[in-house]
Amino acid sequence: MINIVLFGKPGAGKGTQAEFLKSKYQLFHISTGDLFRHHISNKTDLGMLAQSYMNKGDLVPDQVTIDMLKEAVDQNTEAKGFIFDGFPRTTQQAEALDEFLSEKSMSISATLALEADDDILIDRLIKRGKTSGRADDQDEEKIRNRFDEYNNKTAPLRAFYEAQGKFHSVNGIGEIEEITQRLTALIDGLLIK
Ligand code: AMP
Repeated sequence: MINIVLFGKPGAGKGTQAEFLKSKYQLFHISTGDLFRHHISNKTDLGMLAQSYMNKGDLVPDQVTIDMLKEAVDQNTEAKGFIFDGFPRTTQQAEALDEFLSEKSMSISATLALEADDDILIDRLIKRGKTSGRADDQDEEKIRNRFDEYNNKTAPLRAFYEAQGKFHSVNGIGEIEEITQRLTALIDGLLIK
């Protein structure tokens, strides 16, 4: 079983790359952002709660996010492995994920970090916002707040996964296909081990 965390700032290409990786390796893709957006469009209580944070570019509180993630894993136990996209985003989430997986005799195989400069990411997000309609992609102030949340709460996870020997940095700039090749080279290396 192979379980990948796709790591990176908003706009780094996690969702795009997850789409390719999930079919190549037959993994189940869990994006907590997509799950929240699904709840919002279904107007669930969780959706209403999440929306108030997402609209500002703030992280949704840990416990509700962790519970939602666990439910998504539990609903897909037949999967060959998972791609976690946009989760974990805090140390508490990362610890909860490790504990939850180990209860199931599972573990994270690798954390693959897509790296790109902020100005490139802002440009990508503003472009995406024009077609996606996502409110949090259309306003530079909200985007900057998402980067602040990332720098303050998510960036420390690099050290968390480095300490486990699982952190791999990937150049996230270039053609989509080129970046997919960089990721698959890393994953193929892990599969051989
Ligand atoms: P994303 O689609 O991954 O860019 O996430 C969009 C928004 O959903 C984020 O800005 C957060 O408000 C919320 N969100 C997604 N994943 C998480 C998470 N793991 N922890 C907290 N908030 C999250």
